Amino acid sequence: MVSSTTFYLDKVQGQFHSSKEVLAEPGFGEILVKTRRTSICQSDVVIYKNGLTRIKEWPAIILHEVCCEVVSVGNGVTNFQEGDLVGIGCDLPCGDKDCIYCGINGTGDWTSCPDTHATGHEFPGFARTHAILPDWFVQLGPIKKFPRDMNPDIICQLEPLACCLEGMTRVNNCIENRVVVLIGAGSQSTYALQVAQAMGARKIILVNRGHQRLERVMTDFGDERTVGILWDENVVKNVFEACKPFNEPHFIMMNVPHEAGYNLSTKLLGYNTVLDAHAGVKGPTGKPQIMHSVDLNNDIHYKLQCYQATHGSTMHGINLAHEMLVSNKLPLLNKMTREDEYFGKDKLLQAIQRADDRDSLKVIVNWD
Ligand SMILES: [Zn+2]
Ligand SMILES: [Zn+2]
Repeated sequence: MVSSTTFYLDKVQGQFHSSKEVLAEPGFGEILVKTRRTSICQSDVVIYKNGLTRIKEWPAIILHEVCCEVVSVGNGVTNFQEGDLVGIGCDLPCGDKDCIYCGINGTGDWTSCPDTHATGHEFPGFARTHAILPDWFVQLGPIKKFPRDMNPDIICQLEPLACCLEGMTRVNNCIENRVVVLIGAGSQSTYALQVAQAMGARKIILVNRGHQRLERVMTDFGDERTVGILWDENVVKNVFEACKPFNEPHFIMMNVPHEAGYNLSTKLLGYNTVLDAHAGVKGPTGKPQIMHSVDLNNDIHYKLQCYQATHGSTMHGINLAHEMLVSNKLPLLNKMTREDEYFGKDKLLQAIQRADDRDSLKVIVNWD
């Protein structure tokens, strides 16, 4: 038996209230984990400020980017043991082991399952010191073991990195040796910048409205092939100029959750461009329709353009992210969190407020 503390968010723009409970030993196939680190996702900020229709139960247990340590395992668990450090994903298989998307013989595309659910949304998040993970979670994922001496600050970023990698790998051959444009300079673009460097992009063009964050990202992550461009009235011309000797980018990742992001991205499409509509647009009233016309023959067929998107992550992205982190392919990752972006678990509200600042990239909460 273990005493666990959960930090419930009472309501939209509310307060966190802690509550203690005693957890039983994990049952057959289950594992008991303790939270070591959580990082704050922009979706946590949105939930805090506006709520989310997917969260039906309040008070809510939010936070889904997490590194945990295995405390004990139930009978029948062979793939984890006490002391293991694990990173956990957000989008979850539905739990039906026969599901054609999420089950043992499924496609693995569990974000397409009509019954898909997610940590910190329908499934309780990790704003709690301990959690018991059910048997399907332990068996199907999204959970990955990391070396025990790895920094938990890095491991808790498995999920956001996985989401980024889903977008960058859904279409083959669009990053390596190619010109990559990233719209927005928030955390997804900063992961994408590091991934594009690791994958051998030829040039990376980072576009952002605010120059404070653009400068922060360029200073900490830029290299000789990285160009920062301010999103002003000349942005389209300046991006095309930076693509030279090519006429246009090969890959555009739209990481701005506003219609303006789509408008800019679609203006930048040229020959052989893949557009990853990575950020969707949604407001408190739902998802607006954003219309755009495409010439299927001249643009799609003859210019080889591709419009695509991914949401969240499946084991495909989680596995790629795990491999990148374990083999230290993103050596600058810890620069995403500055000294004033670390908080203790009793400062969740301050952590979320800090993550909402214009200059913030990745806020980490230490639960040790
Ligand atoms: Zn996230
Ligand atoms: Zn399913």
